[in-house]
Amino acid sequence: MRDYVIGIDVGGTNVKLGLFDGGMQLVSELKYLTDKDATATELMNYLSQQVCALLEKAGLSLRNVKGVGAAFPSSVDFRRGVTLESINIVSLNEQPVRDLLEKRLEVPVFVDNDANVAALAEHRFGAGRGYDNMIYAALATGIGGGLILNGQLYRGMHGMAGEIGHMFISDSTGYPCGCGVNGCVQSISSGVYMARYAMDRIKEGEESRILDYAGTLSNVDLVAVGRALQMNDPLALEVVNRGAEYLGRMFHNLNQIFDINIFVYGGGITKLGHRFTDRMVASYRHHSLIDQKFPAKFLPAELGERAGIIGAALLVN
Ligand SMILES: [Zn+2]
Repeated sequence: MRDYVIGIDVGGTNVKLGLFDGGMQLVSELKYLTDKDATATELMNYLSQQVCALLEKAGLSLRNVKGVGAAFPSSVDFRRGVTLESINIVSLNEQPVRDLLEKRLEVPVFVDNDANVAALAEHRFGAGRGYDNMIYAALATGIGGGLILNGQLYRGMHGMAGEIGHMFISDSTGYPCGCGVNGCVQSISSGVYMARYAMDRIKEGEESRILDYAGTLSNVDLVAVGRALQMNDPLALEVVNRGAEYLGRMFHNLNQIFDINIFVYGGGITKLGHRFTDRMVASYRHHSLIDQKFPAKFLPAELGERAGIIGAALLVN
């Protein structure tokens, strides 16, 4: 019986695979380090071998598999099965990953963007259960998102819907974003850019415990900022408030467009804790025109690291 589905989450650091039975129960999983220097062919060859290893572990074979879903850290043309622009794994730029995998595995393959599949997973099994409309925001090294409209994942005309990190939010703040534009919310509020702002302020002479925790200026990261925040360090507080303020504005803009106020958020930045999320929510409520009448729900994502494999497997059904 072809009852089983496989979900693959290709990340910049790890590749995770999960095998699910017909009731979407996780049967086994597997993880390995991403080889960022490999060619697309090498990546797909190794990935296919790992799919077989995952099945072998459970005493199954590809004959038991209904389909495979795979998520990539890039924009993805879902209909054509092509990864469009992959900043994390450069060799996956403009690659027909669906066809490459189908040729090797000989089962139906579906591919999508990582934030889209996380949105699917949170909507079906996580914090977004029971809501017809929700917006998922991945707040991490970068900022990504997925839109669930009327119970369905909305991909847009080119598969690029929900790329909320590139929402233009200020022409006077922030750094040039990876996309080349100055003023994307990602270039102010993502983990990398919050750390960079802290670093630059310290470079300019600001005293901060962030530096004590980081050791050296080039080691300043969000973990060091978070530890200094716990000690009420003024610069850490400023960095975190600044990032949270612009995220609140981002959610407000999303609400203005979609009239959706169910926000599910996950990702590494949320480890900064409630002082960060409280400020983000307060910023939204401050800017929102309708929040008093229709209070927004900000819900922490529930599926953690497994959201990717779960959502990728859901692409099959
Ligand atoms: Zn951008």
